[in-house]
Amino acid sequence: MQKYEKLEKIGEGTYGTVFKAKNRETHEIVALKRVRLDDDDEGVPSSALREICLLKELKHKNIVRLHDVLHSDKKLTLVFEYCDQDLKKYFDSCNGDLDPETVKSFMYQLLKGLAFCHSRNVLHRDLKPQNLLINRNGELKLADFGLARAFGIPVRCYSAEVVTLWYRPPDVLFGAKLYSTSIDMWSAGCIFAGLYPGTLLGTPTEEQWQTMTKLPDYKPYPMYPATTSLVNVVPKLSSTGRDLLQNLLKCNPVQRISAEEALQHPYFADFCPP
Ligand code: ADP
Ligand code: MG
Repeated sequence: MQKYEKLEKIGEGTYGTVFKAKNRETHEIVALKRVRLDDDDEGVPSSALREICLLKELKHKNIVRLHDVLHSDKKLTLVFEYCDQDLKKYFDSCNGDLDPETVKSFMYQLLKGLAFCHSRNVLHRDLKPQNLLINRNGELKLADFGLARAFGIPVRCYSAEVVTLWYRPPDVLFGAKLYSTSIDMWSAGCIFAGLYPGTLLGTPTEEQWQTMTKLPDYKPYPMYPATTSLVNVVPKLSSTGRDLLQNLLKCNPVQRISAEEALQHPYFADFCPP
């Protein structure tokens, strides 16, 4: 730990505190994520170990880089590349009024990072603006893989207790256990829309989604009609953007667009990646 000079606190999360810090030798600015290890704990939390193992393999410009892991008796410290802020703070700092080109660029980078994760059989499972980091030069990076896990190994039951409620897809809310990359695509759609669209898109019908009623936690619910079209929800979004959003927010996970497909969508036709 002598290697780093701790600067200010930048975040407080589920497992510990995130500090801005400086490498005393190289003067490089980093982010230190400290994970508390309680006395009665059986060592390093499995969630933290999962994050480390996954991140070490995931080297991509749209995924936050893990430089180092420091382990002392009661503390585990992850050393990450430093980013200027998260998408939530960025959003708030411009009163949620992002220009269409910025939205497109952020979506493109989010999908690029996701396509990479998904091609490596990694689900993020907790995508939300607080877990997307933004750099001064407009780079977006996926962070906080604490809940992610490899799904290549045949595991039958995943926990339904994943994804912060607002960004949770309907199939997972109904107790689906065999979800896949589509879980992240729904969250990406929620981030794209910038709001929770649940009541706005209307209740899914059995016609749209035949296996819905077979899900373990499925309960019959009142049929809400789609109260408004997406034009009213995201009036500033272009028609191709709305089409992409519609495909991300498919209630039926099988119909939801993949990250790779989304990158080929006409919405990005006029986008030149930097
Ligand atoms: P938790 O699992 O506790 O949610 P996160 O990794 O999401 O932990 O970190 C919490 C917050 O700290 C983030 O929402 C973000 O604001 C900030 N943060 C995390 N990592 C970095 C980083 N590398 N650079 C800048 N800020 C970060
Ligand atoms: Mg987080």
